[in-house]
Amino acid sequence: MLIDLHIHSTASDGTRSPSEILSLASERKLGAVALTDHDTVAGIPEFLAESAKYPDIKVVPGVEISLKHYDYSIHVVGLFIDHKSELLNDFLCGIRKNRDMRNEMIIMKLKKHGFDISLEEVNAEAGGESAGRPHFASILIRKGYFSEPQEAFDKCLKRGRPGYCDRILPLPADAIDVIHKAGGIVIWAHPMSYVDADRRALLKILKFLIGKGIDGIEAYYPSFTPEQNAYLLSIAEKHGLAVSGGSDFHGDNMKGIDMGTGSGTLAVPYSVYEKLEEFSKGKRNSA
Ligand code: AMP
Ligand code: ZN
Ligand code: FE
Ligand code: FE
Repeated sequence: MLIDLHIHSTASDGTRSPSEILSLASERKLGAVALTDHDTVAGIPEFLAESAKYPDIKVVPGVEISLKHYDYSIHVVGLFIDHKSELLNDFLCGIRKNRDMRNEMIIMKLKKHGFDISLEEVNAEAGGESAGRPHFASILIRKGYFSEPQEAFDKCLKRGRPGYCDRILPLPADAIDVIHKAGGIVIWAHPMSYVDADRRALLKILKFLIGKGIDGIEAYYPSFTPEQNAYLLSIAEKHGLAVSGGSDFHGDNMKGIDMGTGSGTLAVPYSVYEKLEEFSKGKRNSA
């Protein structure tokens, strides 16, 4: 049985609702799924309520947060969080304020470059409280500027392109501390996606994050090769870290990535869920 512990819904920049995510997980016979929207836990109540219909699927409340590390944006996924934690909600609210300000800057830049787009359209497209670049991409595609989300990013929205603007991100120590205080464990998401998968650089970041209290790493991810997966499993073992994995499913906002199977070869075993749950319980008991 397989699992998927990295999934985005309509609460952030995915195109499937938390309820639809559970029905897709059921179709795919997944044993466990985590909802990990960007900077919001607004999808979790629906996710947990709907999960009562699926007694065979373990559900994990989560959140994904981007952190500032020098010039990098490092992503962490918090799992087994208490989504009602006031501390966590206040922290996420602050992050979203910066996200909203960044979105205004992107609108100004896009307008300057001749794109017809407004903040109201972006927020309406997002629907929820965490509007992001995939929503900009959807609007630009609908208006005929681009044909695919990837093209919109490559030509316009990614770093170095005319519509890119940094957002103010929290520091690793602060985000890790907040997730811990909300009862969660902290996983370094898609660690091979940085520093061009250079292993020396990766180990440097890993040691830095371990120093800040990180609990585990995402060793299974659609773009990772079997060698990278094996390498990440080995360094997790060496450093006593927990292991997680998931597809980073975004529905139609990330073409070619399906829940559970990623781009076709992802396979996160159920034992990953069991070990994480045990790890999480152990942490709570010793807290
Ligand atoms: P934001 O948090 O608003 O800056 O948007 C980040 C989101 O945009 C990521 O979570 C992905 O869903 C998407 N994204 C970021 N970079 C790219 C890229 N190069 N190509 C396609 N989608 C991307
Ligand atoms: Zn996203
Ligand atoms: Fe991410
Ligand atoms: Fe993600």
